[in-house]
Amino acid sequence: MQKIQNFINGKLVAPVSGSYIDNYNPAEGKVYSLIPDSDEQDVKNAVDAAKSAFPIWSKMPVDERSKILQKIADLIDENLDRLAMAESVDNGKPVALAKAVDIPRSSSNMRFFATAILHFSSEAHKMDNVAINYTNREPIGVAGCISPWNLPLYLFTWKIAPALAAGNCVVAKPSEITPMTAYLFSELCINAGLPKGVLNIIHGLGAKAGQAIIEHQDIPLISFTGGTATGKHIAATAAPMFKKLSLELGGKNPNIIFADCDFDQALKTSVLSSFSNQGQICLCGSRILVERSIYTKFVDAFVAKVKALKIGDPLDGLTKIGAIVSEDHMKKILSYIELAKKEGGQIITGGKQVQMEERCTNGYFIEPTVITGLGHDCRINQEEIFGPVVTIMPFDKQEEAIEYANGTAYGLSTTVWTENLKRAHNIANELKSGIVWINCWMVRDLRTPFGGMKQSGVGREGGNEALRFFTETKNVCIKL
Ligand code: NDP
Repeated sequence: MQKIQNFINGKLVAPVSGSYIDNYNPAEGKVYSLIPDSDEQDVKNAVDAAKSAFPIWSKMPVDERSKILQKIADLIDENLDRLAMAESVDNGKPVALAKAVDIPRSSSNMRFFATAILHFSSEAHKMDNVAINYTNREPIGVAGCISPWNLPLYLFTWKIAPALAAGNCVVAKPSEITPMTAYLFSELCINAGLPKGVLNIIHGLGAKAGQAIIEHQDIPLISFTGGTATGKHIAATAAPMFKKLSLELGGKNPNIIFADCDFDQALKTSVLSSFSNQGQICLCGSRILVERSIYTKFVDAFVAKVKALKIGDPLDGLTKIGAIVSEDHMKKILSYIELAKKEGGQIITGGKQVQMEERCTNGYFIEPTVITGLGHDCRINQEEIFGPVVTIMPFDKQEEAIEYANGTAYGLSTTVWTENLKRAHNIANELKSGIVWINCWMVRDLRTPFGGMKQSGVGREGGNEALRFFTETKNVCIKL
């Protein structure tokens, strides 16, 4: 069986302990590879390698750094089919989605930050006849980057690209549930000529390998994407060590549909925003709020479209709904569907595990599920489910929609559907949400700030926000 290896000091190496963990193919429900069960010692070796590489990488002319990172982007493009297939097998997502979104976006992340660093500049502040101040933004050292399983290579590169472009060395840990594309990525880094020790990838359990990263005294900054509970734990560990922290956490995103919307667009996009990647995208809209005058029309049309989604083998190019990432996660989603019934919800389509055939007989599949009849403050409408489950609720007034939208502990993204420009501006102003999409969803410009309010995170990544996070700011004041 294939053994994934750690990537330390430019080499693919076994974990020091020699122990491995099972890695599952969720569409088949069976183990198909093994991943290192790394511990503190592996993390120490990775940090030592990164520290040794830092003086060379941080002082390398920026256009040379840029060329190496662009070469990695080119190699991702050249390996599109192989990486998309690996992502689909490891995660359960439709291979067509991985090919159209995950892998192209991974190379865009690398290319975007490889070139953004060439244009990165800082400010000068002149005090008339007194002094001039200029601001330096310098690489910090060894960055710890920890990423989740839902968009494995996409979110892995979203962190390491700005970290490396800014001149830091990196110790990164992908989720133990989806390690394969990060492993293949380490091979691409070797082929691109990335100097040894600049990027080190440690595989293993969050509570062991991840914990060793966040506790390591020579890692002064942590960029983390994952669940809110894990983010809280990371903050509690890292803050007393005065580490710089960027936390991209969970969400319970509302999707507000006014009667004056472009109905067909709102409908089509709402199906995507509810069920893409089996609803396992932090930006998926899981609470659909519909103005009462079009509520019944919307619910009927939405359910008809959802029933037409093809649930199937992720490797079938026509599949729209693939496998849930793991058995544990499937059980968690199914338990929320049971809770919805207890809370008085009506399951108007879906609601059950799907028994597939042939290769996927033992896989983890759930029908796309639509629930109505719940109040906005029940647990189903307050807690992140992170699966193919949405609720639909009516509202009468704009103020009510805003109150429901803002009425959770989260604040990651909101989508609003209206043709009324004034309303769009006003509502965008009122929403407590890091991202507001008007008449669209998942339209991403990599220059824009990305992140959440409240329990959806701390700090922003993307564009210059990411380059600022991954650099230390120093003001130099010269007397005139
Ligand atoms: P988790 O919080 O469970 O895990 C995220 C990462 O943290 C994994 O690599 C995990 O490792 C690691 N980890 C777990 N415990 C520790 C620890 N003690 N110290 C250091 N690292 C640790 O999240 P999921 O992987 O389940 O991802 C889903 C969550 O991510 C959802 O809540 C989703 O909303 C959120 N998310 C947020 C995004 C955003 O931009 N705001 C984007 C995408 C997802 P391991 O898996 O090996 O345990």
